[in-house]
Formats: sequence, C-alpha cells, structure tokens
Amino acid sequence: MDSLHPLDASQLTYTYTTAPREVPDAKTLASSHKTICTDHMIVASWNVESGWTAPELKPYGPFSLLPSASCLHYAYECFEGLKAYRGHDGKLRMFRTDRNARRLLMSAQRISLPQFDPDELEKLIYALLSVEGSKWLPKSRAGAFLYVRPTIIGTDSQLGVARPTEALLYIIVGYMVRMDMPAGGKRLLTNPDDMVRSWVGGFGYAKVGANYGPSVLATQEAYRQGYHQILWLYGPEGDCTEAGGSNFFVIWKRKDGKKELVTAPLDDQLILNGVTRRSCLELARERLKGELEVSEQKFTIGEIQEAAAENRLLESFAAGTAWFITPIALIHHRGRDIHIPTGPDGTPAEITGKIKGWLGDMMYGRVEHEWARVVPEREELKE
Ligand SMILES: *Cc1c(COP(=O)(O)O)cnc(C)c1O
Repeated sequence: MDSLHPLDASQLTYTYTTAPREVPDAKTLASSHKTICTDHMIVASWNVESGWTAPELKPYGPFSLLPSASCLHYAYECFEGLKAYRGHDGKLRMFRTDRNARRLLMSAQRISLPQFDPDELEKLIYALLSVEGSKWLPKSRAGAFLYVRPTIIGTDSQLGVARPTEALLYIIVGYMVRMDMPAGGKRLLTNPDDMVRSWVGGFGYAKVGANYGPSVLATQEAYRQGYHQILWLYGPEGDCTEAGGSNFFVIWKRKDGKKELVTAPLDDQLILNGVTRRSCLELARERLKGELEVSEQKFTIGEIQEAAAENRLLESFAAGTAWFITPIALIHHRGRDIHIPTGPDGTPAEITGKIKGWLGDMMYGRVEHEWARVVPEREELKE
C-alpha cells in the first residue's frame, strides 16, 4: 500500500443516472428471478503500479472485461453481504459494517487481491446507501431491507496463474427476499458422503466466490428432496459446521444437565466468521448469563441424534445476514429424521426468539444500540 495511492473515500465523485428506474413493487420483487439493483453503484479500480483510483459513484450497469480477465479463470473474486434496514422510526440503519469491511480485506488477502483500509470501504458503503436509501427503501417500507454487495475481482488479462496486477472493487445494492420464516421451520439435509464445503488448510473461512458455486450441486439435491439447505458435516465423526451459507447453532441440555448454546469453532478455519454468529454469541453471553452456557466448540451429528433421543435437544437455528435467524425444525441424516422443537408452525422457540428479537430490535431501530448505525440520507434526492 505504502507509496501507492490508497483507497480514499474522501475522493468519491458523483455521477448521477439520467435514466432513473422505477422502484419495483412487492409483486414484481416476489416474481423476479433476477436480482433487481438500484440506480447507482460505486466503483474503484486498482493496479499494482499506481494503487487505487478515486472511487466513483455512477449509474449501475455492465462492466467491460477481457475474456482473459483473471477473475474469469482463477476465481479471483471475494465479496461481502450486508443489509440496510428501514427502521420503524423511519431511519435507515446498517449493522456492524466495520466487521464486514475487515472481513472483505481478509478474504482479499487470502486470494492475493489488493489491500485497502477497511474504514474507507465502510465510508463508501455509507455513501452509496445515503444516495440510494430514500428512493429504493422508502419510509413506507419500514421493516424491509436492501441487500448490499461489496465485491473485488481481478481484472488483468492474465492466463498465467499469478497475483492479479489489476483489480476492481465495486459496491452494488439490490433486493433480496425475506427468508427467515419458512413455513414449518427450516429443514436441512446433511451433505452427501463424497462432498465437503471446506477443509482444514482450505479457505472456507474466507468469503471467496470459489466456496459457493461448487456447493450448489448438493444444495440442488436437497431442494429436490424438499429440504432448504445442506448441513455441512466434516471429518469422520461428522462435526457440524454450517447450514448452507449460514452459521449453525444448537441449544441442548448437556449430559450434566446444563443448558448450552453451541456452535462450531473458528480455530480450524472451516467456517465463516459470521457477524451474526458473533453477535448471537456476544448477546447470549451477556444477556443469558446464568441461564445457559455458550460454547464455540466441535459437536457432531451423532451428539445431536443422541440428544434428540434423550429429549435433550431444545432448539436449533441458522444465523447469517441473508437468512437472518431462522429456526431449524428438522435435520435429515443418512435416512433418519432428527426433529427439533420450534414454536408453532416453525416460529422461533424461546432462546432463538429472544436472540432474534434483540437483533431485530437493533436493526429496525426499536432499540438504540452501538451495533446499528444510522445512515445519514441525502435529503435533497428524496422523491
Ligand atoms: C456470509 C456467510 C455467513 C454469515 O455471515 P454473516 O456475517 O453473519 O452474514 C455464514 N456462512 C457462510 C458460509 C457465509 O458465506
């Protein structure tokens, strides 16, 4: 980074669209198979000799890339997923964006993409939302959200496998359907014997595109059989890692009678260090102290089956920005169903409901909390 031009949000230039698009209504959103994005995006490019260009806010639209661009051949791509929430008080908020910005830097480093100051990325995310928020997520849509996707790709013409010498950072904003309330709760199928999502020494801890495409073959089979996602197990004991692209939590009574909230650990680098995961753990440690123990440690599918058989399995949920907090009602493993208690019709049971409620209250401004920051909106652009 040193002598090269750093990523600098204060240099952001604004070129507004001359062809503003219509904001889709709920029906259009529900029936669209394509992601509908907002009017603008932010783009900054990098090259190894000069560093970062001044970031530009400009109309959303296609890029031009050479067919030999390195991202198209060697998966030089990493990304983040965040949401901007329209609060019940009319304000727009984002949740712990500093964490996402730092994680994008970590992912970029893992695949030799350029470095940047995560604080500058955070400022750019806020700048884009401050322009797009009031039109694309109006106050009449309180309780709804936009999905924000910062991405970095290698763009140099390079068929030799080498560190990219050119890259593009961009931030786009679009709609995503709400997925946290599947009727009857979420149903998971464990991965087939011959597939894993990540492995020790691999890159499952980084949000790099290479982790996601290859997982879809198993996920499609899960859909075909009526499940929502794959529960990815790892190793001969069947350690539970993640539920699709979400972190996986179980609440059970241990054999010693203590109530425990457990999720997979970070130290073997198999799982994504989710912002939602971290927030759930921190809240449980702070607000459910005395009520349950909070553990980040290995646990196996066999232990879940055993707990279910002994009536010690209390709740389970998936946690991530996309799915938010989704109760899990069923896990199917090697021909057997494991039923997990939920509230009525797959709504959250007690602990899941408390954690989901606390987080939702912060995101939608029912409670002020340092994790959820208000995005100052550009009043003059309001329709
Ligand atoms: C993004 C992601 C998560 C969730 O992370 P959050 O920061 O909570 O959104 C979990 N697992 C995987 C594999 C992911 O890609």
